[in-house]
Amino acid sequence: MLMTSMTGLAQDQQMNAFIDQLMAKMTVEEKLGQMNLLPGQSFATGAEKDSPLLKLVAEGKLGTVLNLKGVDDIRKLQETAQKSRLKIPVLVGMDVIHGYETVFPIPLGMSCSWDLKAIEQTARIAAKEATADGICWTYSPMVDIALDARWGRIAEGNGEDPFLGSRIAEALVKGYQGNYGPENMMACVKHYALYGGAEAGRDYNTVDMSHVRMYNQYFPPYEAAVKAGAGSVMTSFNVVDHIPATANKWLIDDVLRKEWQWNGFVVTDYGSIGEITQHGLGDLQQASVLALKAGTDMDMCSEGYINTLEQSLKEGKVTMADIDQACRRILEAKYKLGLFENPFRFLDPKRHTTDIYTPEHRQAARNLAAESFVLLKNDNVLPLKKQGRIALIGPMADNRVNMVGTWSPTAVNDRYATLKEAMEQALKGKATLSYAQGCNFTNDSTMQKNGGFYRATPFKDGEQLKQEALRIASEADVIVCAMGESAEMSGECSSRATLEMFDAQKELLEALTALGKPLVILNFAGRPTVLTWEKEHAAALLQVWFGGSEAGDAICDVLFGDKVPSGKLTTSMPQATGQEPLYYNHLPTGRPIPEGTKTFSKFGSNYMDVRNDPLFPFGFGLSYTTFEYSDISLHGRTASVTVKNTGERDADEIVQLYIHDVVASISRPVRELKGFERIHLKKGESKEVKFEITDDLLRFYGTNGYTLEPGDFDIMIGPSSSLEQLKKVTLTIR
Ligand code: BGC
Repeated sequence: MLMTSMTGLAQDQQMNAFIDQLMAKMTVEEKLGQMNLLPGQSFATGAEKDSPLLKLVAEGKLGTVLNLKGVDDIRKLQETAQKSRLKIPVLVGMDVIHGYETVFPIPLGMSCSWDLKAIEQTARIAAKEATADGICWTYSPMVDIALDARWGRIAEGNGEDPFLGSRIAEALVKGYQGNYGPENMMACVKHYALYGGAEAGRDYNTVDMSHVRMYNQYFPPYEAAVKAGAGSVMTSFNVVDHIPATANKWLIDDVLRKEWQWNGFVVTDYGSIGEITQHGLGDLQQASVLALKAGTDMDMCSEGYINTLEQSLKEGKVTMADIDQACRRILEAKYKLGLFENPFRFLDPKRHTTDIYTPEHRQAARNLAAESFVLLKNDNVLPLKKQGRIALIGPMADNRVNMVGTWSPTAVNDRYATLKEAMEQALKGKATLSYAQGCNFTNDSTMQKNGGFYRATPFKDGEQLKQEALRIASEADVIVCAMGESAEMSGECSSRATLEMFDAQKELLEALTALGKPLVILNFAGRPTVLTWEKEHAAALLQVWFGGSEAGDAICDVLFGDKVPSGKLTTSMPQATGQEPLYYNHLPTGRPIPEGTKTFSKFGSNYMDVRNDPLFPFGFGLSYTTFEYSDISLHGRTASVTVKNTGERDADEIVQLYIHDVVASISRPVRELKGFERIHLKKGESKEVKFEITDDLLRFYGTNGYTLEPGDFDIMIGPSSSLEQLKKVTLTIR
């Protein structure tokens, strides 16, 4: 069935014929069974005997299961399916978000590497490990644009930029799916659509925006992912134009399927059909009708399709054609994954012992983690020398379960080092390391518990922790603080209304800075947090996000200078929470305040108490070397600069291209990223970097759809989105 010599058309014909004959045998209930997705449960210790889940599979009422791990359990599932009337294999999905047992940095961190090859490789490795464990469908990539750092799920996406987000979306889809070989899994693009636009950054909240904004700022990564061939898409929890995404025919049928010509299957998010009722559009039966009619094929955990659609069919509310179409798309996915040819394709008896958490995978994770860190400040203190007395302090310093970040349910915590353990190893025989936890995450034990979720850090006596830290710090030459958030303080349902460093950590930092020693802050976070005070008082600030299972070693690589930091922010970091949503590609307003303005300007668009600029802008990140950019030379549509490494270390630089449409029929962003290149420069070396300014980069979605309007465009190239760092020329399109 999966013969590579066959043409795409012949393959499609063969698939269609296979599915035609299968569907001709299916009852309505069996079709609805294929559209039904439920959570898995382990069948260890004989639980399979009375398992309601296996009973449903045996009866043909359940076609897909999520979050079941391990070849033994999944084999039982497939064996049961093989005993059902039509022997349709089960699709097994899981949230494999940033690696499987080899855990890569959280997606927001990964995006700061701007390293598309390495990002694609993370997906390839994740797929290899997950398929070795029986899983063939992942709920990734999450490509929601997020402009508001209060929203905890900003951790799971690629930041605020649609251009970069689109390239990363493509890389991930390619990495996961490959050519649907036995080591590939199907991707699921989520959450369609606009989930990151939640008002006030509160998870699951209302989204309301213009179509112009949807198309220009929020849709591009979804479109890029489906055009890269993603096999499935997940709807979002929010409303779009006041209609829940899962029930939104315009969104699913018109845009996703017709406009973007995509033919994969659509699954709801967890319980989304049930939530249509909460949104106020009717009971479960009505919600299921709306979802099916909108083009949603699979019901994740609402049991609306399996329990109500047959009745709706009898009542004429849906047609057999509606059900057939949804069922067909799901069977096609199973066919593409090769499950009909071999239901045990992902249940190799050996691969789970050889292909998971291999040294090669771990090395890839360590490399990418180092690339994901962003050096925000460095007063000549980093890299640290491996000598003298180093004090390591903070609630993240020796916190194994929290190192890997949100969405890492498959991490095996005892297989990797904490930061403290990694530092001990790195400094062995060279320097003295002392350690103290120093403080709780916060003085509020309830918040610490809420933000800990299933891996809460025990709450201890704060004063005792502080005294111990001060004691070791006073004996050290340099203090390294591992602070910030715990893993579950970002991610799903982890919104925050204040983004400043928590009280307990801030108090400790104040006490430590009073010692007058060089202080390095490693900021662990799943979102941009406010580091205004920290920027002023620390000698160095390294944003480490949550770097995954190899983060401890990767931090040492950068901290001690074996590697040079190269990450650049993909999300603006605020000076104060009240600036959110904060993003570089904003519209100008009628009363703009020039970037870098230091004072309040009455009747201008600004705050009285905080300036408009971010603390650290999109695209920003320091290095242990320095780079010099030449002016831009423009030849026709080719813009180029020469970048020189003017410092003392070989290093990578991420060169960025921004464009601004000077006069247009609608107000256009002050600038937008339209190209980038990650280059390696030896010390003293120069390289020319060229960008081709294609029509595609200049067009936008206006009031009447896509348009390219002749006129002047500012072309800007530099090391970040900050105007003062960008070189500029004007390109005139006639
Ligand atoms: C999340 C999704 C996830 C799904 C399945 C939902 O709560 O929003 O991102 O894929 O659960 O675990």
